[in-house]
Amino acid sequence: MRRFCRAAAIIVLLACIGSAAEPADWILRARYVLTMDPQHGLIENGAVAIGGDSILAVGPAAEIASRYTARRTLDRPDALIMPGMIDTHTHAAMSLFRAMADDKRLQDWLSNYIFPAESKNVNPDFVKWGTELACLEMSLAGITTYTDMYYFEDTVAAITKQAGLRGVLGQSVIGFPAPDYKTWKEALAGADRYIRKYQSDPLIVPAVAPHAIYTTPDDALVASHRVAVKYNAPLLIHISETKKEVDDSVAKRHMTPPELLASLGVLDGRVVAAHCVWVNEKDIQILKNHSTGIAHCPSSNMKLASGIAPVTAMLRQGLDVGLGNDGFAGSNDTADLILEMNIAAKLQKVARMDPEVLPAEQVVEMATIRGARVLGLEKKIGSLEPGKRADLITISLAHPNAIPIYNIYAQVAYASKAADVRDVFVNGRLIVDNRHVLTLDQREIYAHVHDWQRRIQESLAQTIH
Ligand SMILES: [Zn+2]
Repeated sequence: MRRFCRAAAIIVLLACIGSAAEPADWILRARYVLTMDPQHGLIENGAVAIGGDSILAVGPAAEIASRYTARRTLDRPDALIMPGMIDTHTHAAMSLFRAMADDKRLQDWLSNYIFPAESKNVNPDFVKWGTELACLEMSLAGITTYTDMYYFEDTVAAITKQAGLRGVLGQSVIGFPAPDYKTWKEALAGADRYIRKYQSDPLIVPAVAPHAIYTTPDDALVASHRVAVKYNAPLLIHISETKKEVDDSVAKRHMTPPELLASLGVLDGRVVAAHCVWVNEKDIQILKNHSTGIAHCPSSNMKLASGIAPVTAMLRQGLDVGLGNDGFAGSNDTADLILEMNIAAKLQKVARMDPEVLPAEQVVEMATIRGARVLGLEKKIGSLEPGKRADLITISLAHPNAIPIYNIYAQVAYASKAADVRDVFVNGRLIVDNRHVLTLDQREIYAHVHDWQRRIQESLAQTIH
């Protein structure tokens, strides 16, 4: 009898070893998993297994359950899991200027409001709380990676890490005294130090960000490019945002902004160009030849009446075009990439008088995998595939605006809202749990933002009405 028991125990043990499930840190289950992988897989009753900072597997929930045992599980039978959204252009700390000076022309807004407001107020404390507020908003909106151009970028990077978000964060270089550095040479030396500090960071991709050709002299553009190449860091810049920028460039330099930048060698390397509203066929070809990533910012282009970027032409030429909100003040007053998808699609349709252009699936790509390509991060993020970083979100479908569902892309792009985002993972870490941000102190942020509002209003008492 004892021998029989021992034999039975061995058989059970062997059976257990034979079917031993692999360990995972998380298994997430949902009604749908939208992978945005090359096949654009949509899995009903799907699951994602996460180990450490990476995705272990994506598949039907039953299959994932048989392969993995997880320390923690998240069940969202009334939600969609999709890749975290990627914002390819913003200025996070400007959230402290939200809805402060609106309905202005870009040059008027920059020269008479934002640059004076920045010179009077922007310091590391301003950047800290402005960035925290922006990170809070972006986290709740399901933005897991954002691309920033601002001052004191070292502080932006520290806050972004604290928030648990991924950031491609560019130290600004500009041709006049800025809040952090008095000259572009000092800014560039600062950018060099900053890039070295964060070069191997798991969440931060440090970058250099010469503002634009009309604010940054050629020498500074070329020197910025040199620093970017030295570290294989992205170079972030505004290009051809307004007709005036292009007209001035052609009048003074006899070249369009892309032609000028190409002639200076600035487009050789990892470049992310925001806007590209006023680009012609030749410009598009130049950008394509240099594999320049394009950050399309439809809300900003509409609000500042900059124009309509030829997105469909750029996509047709094979350019990588992502979405950006472009700031939390003036050019846009919120960070909501679901809204940007919606607007991007509709803006192209009305511009071309053709409802078939820029369909829902394409704008969802722009907010995810194409955005990753714009930033040169497509091997790490942008889709749900084994081996990629676990940056993903759940979007609740338990709302009247999510019933019924015929097409998941149209649902996301045209019917969902940022407030439907329920959970957020970045680098395998849960940072938003059922709409509660776990990494930032909301009450503390609000208190400091109110304090900053008072100080900003006092400083601009003569300007703001
Ligand atoms: Zn911008």
